Amino acid sequence: VRPTPTRIVAALALLLPAPASLASAAAPPVDVRALDRSARPQDDLFRFVNGIWLERADVPPDRVAHGTFSELADEADLAVRAIVEEAASRRRLAPEQRQIVDLHASMLDETRVEALGAKPIEGQLARLAGVRSVAEFSAEAGSLSALAACGPFVGTLGADASGEAGLVVTLAPAGTLLADPEHYFGEGAPAAAVRSEYARYLTTVFAASGWSRPAAARSVLDIERRLVRAREAAAAARRPPARFTLRELRARIPGFDWAAWAKPQGIERAAYLLLSEPEYFERFAASVGQDDLESWKSWLTARYLTAVAPFLSRPFSEARFEFFGRALTGQQQPIPRWKRAVSLVNGYLADVVGPLYVRREFSAATKAAAERMVGRVLDAYRAAVRDAEWMAEPTRREALHKLARLRARVGYPDTWRRYRGLAIRDDDLLGNVQRAQRFESERQAARVSGAGDPGEWMIPAQVPNAYYAPARNEIVVTAALLRPPLFDDGVDAAWNYGSLGAVIAHEITHALDEQGRGTDGDGAPRDWWKPEDVRAFRDRAALLAAQFEARLPAAARAAASARMLRENVADLAGLSVAFRAYTQSLGGRPAPVIDGFTGEQRFFLSWARLWRGKVRDEHLGQWLLTSNHAPPPQRANVPLGNIQGFYAAFGVEPGSRLYVSPEQRVSIF
Ligand SMILES: [Zn+2]
Repeated sequence: VRPTPTRIVAALALLLPAPASLASAAAPPVDVRALDRSARPQDDLFRFVNGIWLERADVPPDRVAHGTFSELADEADLAVRAIVEEAASRRRLAPEQRQIVDLHASMLDETRVEALGAKPIEGQLARLAGVRSVAEFSAEAGSLSALAACGPFVGTLGADASGEAGLVVTLAPAGTLLADPEHYFGEGAPAAAVRSEYARYLTTVFAASGWSRPAAARSVLDIERRLVRAREAAAAARRPPARFTLRELRARIPGFDWAAWAKPQGIERAAYLLLSEPEYFERFAASVGQDDLESWKSWLTARYLTAVAPFLSRPFSEARFEFFGRALTGQQQPIPRWKRAVSLVNGYLADVVGPLYVRREFSAATKAAAERMVGRVLDAYRAAVRDAEWMAEPTRREALHKLARLRARVGYPDTWRRYRGLAIRDDDLLGNVQRAQRFESERQAARVSGAGDPGEWMIPAQVPNAYYAPARNEIVVTAALLRPPLFDDGVDAAWNYGSLGAVIAHEITHALDEQGRGTDGDGAPRDWWKPEDVRAFRDRAALLAAQFEARLPAAARAAASARMLRENVADLAGLSVAFRAYTQSLGGRPAPVIDGFTGEQRFFLSWARLWRGKVRDEHLGQWLLTSNHAPPPQRANVPLGNIQGFYAAFGVEPGSRLYVSPEQRVSIF
């Protein structure tokens, strides 16, 4: 189980070498001589700013999407690679630096990975093959959840929403390797083609691993179809999340051995479990109890093989890429090995690399300048809360109190974790991954039993991102994000407010939104909204949902707009508050006109530049089915029609495509 922060961008899997950036440090993030004049900013600011880039840029072959954030990730990855290579070249190394060098080397040693073939998974496969009872099956499912993150559910760790002491494990449905229900049940040729490619994938990896159950691939598909149906039934039943102790689970949801499943993960120490859709778990457990155990074993094995394939030889890793990469998303090439090595180090030894990255790439002056900006955005946010018409007065006082208590952490953590006791070997890739995974699971389990970890970051300093952590009431902005085009202390302030300022305000919004209402200024679970606040907020949010629904690509519009609503609210409030902060920073004086653009115009150009991005057509469907964030054009454009400053900056009038009639405009903060 892992805590999940809400991030400004979805966690991108792994990324690509950047086209070398030749821009000097003080060049603004938008070249105003290279705007797409075929689009009017009032109609499509996204295209006006990014049109020329969109025409020229290709999504790199190992990616499904590309843009501002993947370019930043590329830069960060190159820096981390240089750091590890530099460490590897030294004769004497501190033990923790030896860990990063060896973990990195174990991924790069392709020859050894190929020579080992299926050997690294033989022991686990023998255990799966030897399962004879539901209890043994449940124990393996729990063990694999801790070891390879491929168990039957998604677990997250959080505080108890009722305010009682102790941590709680929230379980959400998982269990299918394909995200789109259409792929399981669709009658058309495209769905049938996906199913047949999927069956081929399963057959290939089963054969490579020596898993020789008759019709194993068919059993996996059958079970996953049952799980999709269970999920649909749970969604239709609309029962609220329900809490159970392990003992209660055993009595009330029979079929699966919950205690055997919990033990390998340390979950038996949690006060209770919160099942997000109880109906799903009932159907899952009943099915495990009744149906052919051999089929369930093949299903769990397929999940395991899919989780570990990237760390195994070609028959596994290529089969996985050909199906989950090329066939499902249009990705043309696997992520290069060096990037996967960087990702491994960032994933499991983040805080060994962190201080080395900060020393190399991040200055004290940048940290101080970014902290000043956070302060100004917080000032503007307080003013916005005072002006928010929809909040009842007691709620407004609570919100202001929460903002006063909010901590902003900029760049890197105050203390760095160590990984003592984690054994890393340069010749044991899968062993490294599994030991590191278990090391992390045990640490999380220790938190379940109350041994906290104050101050630790959920995203490493060397990975570009930002998040809000409700239990600590803090926002985090990583060092790798505090770079051009998001932030540059040397450029005109409008550029920085339109990008980094909006990102900071977006994260602060999560302290005050429908999820933020559930914890107070000290991070304690307590709902501080009144029923009338809930109604007023939802009325406004519904207008925004309708705007997105009208503008998202056709597939799954309503569901996508509903899923993305929380992030879209945060984008709108973030943009609005950042604009207020920028205006306040001018202190009543007009901003200089630079290259023909006013300060207000530059602010919005920067916002559109922030969301520069391109998504492969094959991937867009998957994005709309799974992402919490709107695709780049809508993410950039739709909020603008609600911001009065945008109308003034570009003279937006009825008839402009981004125009929204005054009664349809949404203002939240
Ligand atoms: Zn967010």
